[in-house]
Amino acid sequence: MTGAQEWCAAFKARRVHEYLEDTVKTFGDRPAADFMGRVWSYKDYGDAVNRVAAGLQGLGVKPGVNVGLCLPNTPYYTIFYFAILKIGGTVVNFNPLYVEREIAFQARDADVRIMVTMDLKIIYDKVEAVRQEKVLDKIIVCPMAEILPFPKNLLFKLFKGKDVAKVPQDGAHLRYGDLLSAGSAPKPVEFDPAKTVAVLQYTGGTTGVPKGAMLSHANLSANIEQMVEIFSDSHPGKEKMMCVLPFFHVFAMTVSQNLAVALGAEMVLQPRFEIETLLKDVKRKRVTLFPGVPTLFTAINNSPLTAKYDLSSIAVCLSGGAPLPVEVKAAFEKLTGCILVEGYGLTEASPVCSVNPLDGTTVAGSIGRLVPGTQAQFRALEDRDSQVTAGEKGELCLKGPQVMMGYWKRPDDTAGTIDADGFLHTGDVGYIDEAGFIYLVDRIKDLIICSGYNVYPRMIEEAIYQHPAVEEAIVIAVPDTYRGQSPKAFVKLKADMSLTGDELKTFLKDHLSAIEMPREYEFRDSLPKTMVGKLSKKELVEEEARKREAA
Ligand code: AMP
Repeated sequence: MTGAQEWCAAFKARRVHEYLEDTVKTFGDRPAADFMGRVWSYKDYGDAVNRVAAGLQGLGVKPGVNVGLCLPNTPYYTIFYFAILKIGGTVVNFNPLYVEREIAFQARDADVRIMVTMDLKIIYDKVEAVRQEKVLDKIIVCPMAEILPFPKNLLFKLFKGKDVAKVPQDGAHLRYGDLLSAGSAPKPVEFDPAKTVAVLQYTGGTTGVPKGAMLSHANLSANIEQMVEIFSDSHPGKEKMMCVLPFFHVFAMTVSQNLAVALGAEMVLQPRFEIETLLKDVKRKRVTLFPGVPTLFTAINNSPLTAKYDLSSIAVCLSGGAPLPVEVKAAFEKLTGCILVEGYGLTEASPVCSVNPLDGTTVAGSIGRLVPGTQAQFRALEDRDSQVTAGEKGELCLKGPQVMMGYWKRPDDTAGTIDADGFLHTGDVGYIDEAGFIYLVDRIKDLIICSGYNVYPRMIEEAIYQHPAVEEAIVIAVPDTYRGQSPKAFVKLKADMSLTGDELKTFLKDHLSAIEMPREYEFRDSLPKTMVGKLSKKELVEEEARKREAA
């Protein structure tokens, strides 16, 4: 048996709420979360989860029932998450910044009839509009004012004048408080962790149409155990976890929240990204663990505010979701004295599949080694059933206990993504070295075919990042009459820096081959990002297509 197979044979799948229950027993009096200075203990969380679970049972939530969470990072998110899981229901994560149409699409697709949200108008009004379309039966409303550590009138200031919604008193609208009165604990529910969907996590996947990845309790508990092993040098009951990535995204759900709960760490909650609040909270709470996406570390590196705050408490940062430019890693480590390691994952794998070692042997530019229990194969791009020679570039395919059950109600997509041997086709192209470090070169769908050659935009972006004036870069394919496609670079410069396309071109000549050189350069004040803060190509690709169509 290989090491990965042995790990899997020894792994015992658990139901996800058991991690919270263990921590309530061991660290009940320790802080579970800090929300703007107000602290909840693990015991507070445990009690609230039990009461909410009992209330949800009264609404018919049980195995097979999908409940939507449309919440920013607040204690409500974690309480509802574990309450739903405890009684066997399925959490469906909604991005609170989605527009009404997106919420309606996802609710319909996922058969969500009950949605949990907050009374902030910016979120509530959209959810209420979806209910009025008869897509939802019930909305459970969590009042912002009840979790704040200060008087209500300050709420308006804090949320920049955004009002709090007036929620009707009728059968279609329940308040958080109504649920608490149902009883102190739910009736016990038995379910199989390997067969019960804990979370339905929507993703564009490799084909772009939003689909729900079915993550079972076994999948999520595997990824918790895998991360606990990676973080085996941490200090249970003592760590402070920065929770700025939104919990509705799979990376934050598993690494910021579930790992924090398993380690008995205190979650320092940021309902939205605001750099000064974040820096203040790192200092105030002496944050030790910090999961983030590369753009977040870039923002901290380049903010003039950073120098005002002591960030030296940060011990370990995990960057994932997108490539971490080598310069960004080096600058952040110098600034804080922490170790910033890159990991890799995807929604379909709960999500973490590889991480660099936390012992200082991290390899910049690599996504690290496979997490325990995980196997990788690299398949030829032209023939997805055959493996490339060791060390050659191919599609990264992964197998492990964290790989999803499949896509919700889309058996064809599932069959096209997980093959008969149980390998998940990630759509990412990369290779592995002899020491087991994996390097990604790009995503299949982002490849640029230039005069018949594969050109990897990530390699070009890496080169552009090496210019000291550059803050962010995105490279996409644009049509080219001679070459079929050629690279175009979009660049955001650091504040007070200047650079022309010709200067950048001259700089890049030392770093790129002729075929990789971008044919066009465009400088912008900002570049599009996804809701979780990753740089996003989609908008630029669409914009370019429209521009060229109109020309
Ligand atoms: P999502 O399912 O939204 O979490 O997106 C997963 C995708 O993000 C992966 O398939 C990769 O293309 C990309 N990704 C995640 N981590 C990294 C990383 N460290 N480097 C490069 N791409 C990454």
